[in-house]
Amino acid sequence: MPDASPARRTRRKRPAATAAAPEPCITLADYYMGRDRLYADELTQELVANAQRMVARASELLRRAGLRRAVNSGWRPAAVNAAVKNAAKKSRHMLCLAIDIDDDDGALDAWCMAHPDVLEELGLWLEHPSATPRWCHVQIVQYGSWAPGKPRYFYP
Ligand SMILES: [Zn+2]
Repeated sequence: MPDASPARRTRRKRPAATAAAPEPCITLADYYMGRDRLYADELTQELVANAQRMVARASELLRRAGLRRAVNSGWRPAAVNAAVKNAAKKSRHMLCLAIDIDDDDGALDAWCMAHPDVLEELGLWLEHPSATPRWCHVQIVQYGSWAPGKPRYFYP
């Protein structure tokens, strides 16, 4: 079988979604908070891949919830995490596996609690709203004791 000829390749249509795709609610730049320049040495390819997945899923979550929100806390290099009051020593934020989204009115937390099916579909776990008074923490890795059938939320 020969490879597809260049002529065939040039005739291939662009994906239909390209033109009409909405702006993502959260960008990689929002997530890095400028730390990709300040801590460039710590930002490995693995972390970049994690951050891309995190941002995509968080944006889809906001789209589903119909909310536009800013990033409260994204990637935390070790030195940054150490300076965050009450941050977990092994915070998922350090590995670009978690995000805190602004949620002053609690509407996003409430929406997440009411839609565990969407969290499951998107591959997200939620820190319980009682632990996140003005923000919403979601992460793309399961919490330690999670197993299928258990809640998508957890207590820190
Ligand atoms: Zn968090």
